[in-house]
Amino acid sequence: MSKFTMGYFTMKEADVLDYATTVLDCFDSHAVLSCKEIGDGNLNYVFRVMDEKAGKSIIIKQAGPCARISDEFKVSPDRNRIESEILQLQHRLAEGFVPRVFKYDPIMNCCVMEDLSDHVIMRRALMEHKKFPFFADHITTFMTKTLLLTSDVMMDHKAKKELVKNFTNPELCEITEDLVYTEPFFDCPRNDVFPPTRGYAEKELWSDEALLLETAKLKFEFMTNAQSLLHGDLHTGSIFIKPDSTKVIDPEFAFYGPAGYDVGNVIANLIFAYENAEATIEDQQEKIDYKGWLEETIIQVMDLFVDKFKELWKEHTTERTAKYKGFDAYYLNNIIRDTAAVAGCELCRRILGIAHVKDITAIEDLEKRARAEKICLSVGKTFILQREKLKSGRDFMSVVKDWE
Ligand code: ADP
Ligand code: MG
Ligand code: MG
Ligand code: MG
Repeated sequence: MSKFTMGYFTMKEADVLDYATTVLDCFDSHAVLSCKEIGDGNLNYVFRVMDEKAGKSIIIKQAGPCARISDEFKVSPDRNRIESEILQLQHRLAEGFVPRVFKYDPIMNCCVMEDLSDHVIMRRALMEHKKFPFFADHITTFMTKTLLLTSDVMMDHKAKKELVKNFTNPELCEITEDLVYTEPFFDCPRNDVFPPTRGYAEKELWSDEALLLETAKLKFEFMTNAQSLLHGDLHTGSIFIKPDSTKVIDPEFAFYGPAGYDVGNVIANLIFAYENAEATIEDQQEKIDYKGWLEETIIQVMDLFVDKFKELWKEHTTERTAKYKGFDAYYLNNIIRDTAAVAGCELCRRILGIAHVKDITAIEDLEKRARAEKICLSVGKTFILQREKLKSGRDFMSVVKDWE
């Protein structure tokens, strides 16, 4: 019996090499393999196994028993099943936008998948002020297909409920409920507040009862609206990109929630990139140009989402009552409203909560960083409070510009 069938343990590079040789059949039996741990995330171990001579490589992602940032977060390694299954489902719904999965191992809680090392993590590329002209088109195709095709509008309701069951993800949902919807909105000991930002948070967020009430409503919306099968963690660190290709990775937070959750995360994270550009690009022309591209991209993410939503609605709606006149607009409006609100929560929680984003923390000039943080918080708060009024990509961007 191999040690890999006896029971779960967290693998080191040497174990992964052994695993690749004895368990997998991806490589030639005489191949000389090398292995490196390349994970940079908060929760898991990611190994790249290579057969340099044959130019072949794979990725093995193993779920650890607790988060790497803090062992306070105990999370079931079963999330690797969720990740493996949803990657395969997303591949069927939106082919070409996720890595291929070759194997899921329920004992080792690991997933063997396509190596996307020819792509780069989008957050890093945006911080180097690179442009990706097809991004808005790609990500809106991915989101409309994965979100709408898993909804009751377009799925048999019993089959959908089976998916809801399969993807209840209580532990990772709890992380979102705490880190996104709760802790950033009070002086929680676990928060990580940049000292110059504290006064603003105390005055404008933590003591604003109207805002707190809205965050409570949004948290309950997140917990109870089983609308679509979400990616659940769709920030720019979960997107691999190159000029002609966009791949969404790391869907371990997947569960049935409000469709606007994914769209809102994409938009908020583009706003972080926008504020990074504002604070760090010195050449004025270059700054205008790059911010202009980001602005256009943010507008297009919302507007192409709307266009593609309408196309899919026409083609794929199976639910009889969803075809009643006006229901499509009602349903879409709710998604746009949720998108604004979630973008608002994400903007606040990445500034005040435990998990920050590099776009902002890498701003070296402390005054500029403080300014960027204040803008993110103000835009976030406005998105939450004004969510009923924001209807288009331009509406979203005009809030950002108002606070500049
Ligand atoms: P976590 O859940 O811990 O955040 P991720 O799935 O985001 O893990 O992966 C962490 C890092 O590992 C990514 O930022 C990327 O650099 C690398 N990685 C993950 N999946 C792949 C892949 N399929 N191909 C190449 N690199 C990958
Ligand atoms: Mg990740
Ligand atoms: Mg990561
Ligand atoms: Mg992850």
